[in-house]
Amino acid sequence: MQQERVIIIGSGPAGLTAALYTGRAMLNPLVIAGMQLGGQISLTGEVENYPGFWSPDHTPTGPELVDVMHKQAEHFGARFVYDEVVEVDFGVRPFRIKTYSAEYLADSVIVTVGASPTKLGVPGEAEYVGRGVSYCGTCDGFFFRNKDVVVVGGGDSALEEGIFLTKFANKVKVIHRRDQLRAGAILQKRAFANEKISFIWDTVVEEIVGNGVVQGVRVKNVKTNEIRQVETDGVFIFIGHDPNNHFLVGQLAMDEEGYVITDEHYRTSVPGVYAAGEIQDPHFRQISTSVGQGAGAAIELEKWLAGQE
Ligand SMILES: Cc1cc2nc3c(=O)[nH]c(=O)nc-3n(C[C@H](O)[C@H](O)[C@H](O)COP(=O)(O)OP(=O)(O)OC[C@H]3O[C@@H](n4cnc5c(N)ncnc54)[C@H](O)[C@@H]3O)c2cc1C
Repeated sequence: MQQERVIIIGSGPAGLTAALYTGRAMLNPLVIAGMQLGGQISLTGEVENYPGFWSPDHTPTGPELVDVMHKQAEHFGARFVYDEVVEVDFGVRPFRIKTYSAEYLADSVIVTVGASPTKLGVPGEAEYVGRGVSYCGTCDGFFFRNKDVVVVGGGDSALEEGIFLTKFANKVKVIHRRDQLRAGAILQKRAFANEKISFIWDTVVEEIVGNGVVQGVRVKNVKTNEIRQVETDGVFIFIGHDPNNHFLVGQLAMDEEGYVITDEHYRTSVPGVYAAGEIQDPHFRQISTSVGQGAGAAIELEKWLAGQE
């Protein structure tokens, strides 16, 4: 069985940054990239809010950023395998990591497997991601200047992002399946006071429709069963996030929503296992913050390994 000094699980912005830092620290890291090299940014059209790559003539795409980060990490010694972790044993060192096709031993691990926005699971959703369907107002709001959008959800994220979207959009309609919001009182007050925001209550989205780009949502009133179409240019879905934690359950301490608990040094409940990016951060969910956390975890891991040796 292959034994590694550092294994990084996941290859989103946090994982690629951890790979770069541990590579430059001569730790010869192995990255188990998962099924999506680059993580969520590989799905992203234009990225305008990650500093350093933008110019007036060119806004980088998500895949372009991934390509640069990947090459940079490889250049400094990171090795990549394109496989997915299915099981880990963090009970004893060296840690055991099992993928679909191999098993590894590792002196130390950085977990960067991210979280996935909870999907509505309706027809048209997957088809129109990046063409009107979005899970990130901060990222994509700018593309909806002077357009109409709907926001699906009734919690803090839905209202925060809905309020943010009013900077760009003409109208923001919040579609919520209940007749009351779950969001905090202050956010509710702000949203109700915002002239651009209106609410469609007791309503669920049944289908996202369009013609190459989103044109509307077919919705159903859960009290009256009335079905109608709401015309819109964009559909922003904020019904939660699901941390990609299935193989970590019982191995690392998690909060009640399943996010890995870390301290300010990105240490998990198991010494030698670090976590960075959205798997441990339900709050910021940005490329730049995930990159920073990946760097932090790698720096801390390097110190920890040096202390062991
Ligand atoms: C459509 C969209 C647009 C966005 N646009 C922007 C934007 O413009 N600006 C911005 O700042 N942020 C944007 N974001 C958010 C940003 O992409 C995320 O905050 C960031 O990618 C999180 O990084 P991460 O490394 O923590 O995890 P992720 O990017 O989620 O990466 C997780 C990685 O873990 C891997 N993985 C998962 N499970 C396993 C497993 N079992 N074994 C091995 N590997 C595994 C995956 O293959 C992936 O490589 C956007 C998100 C989306 C969905």
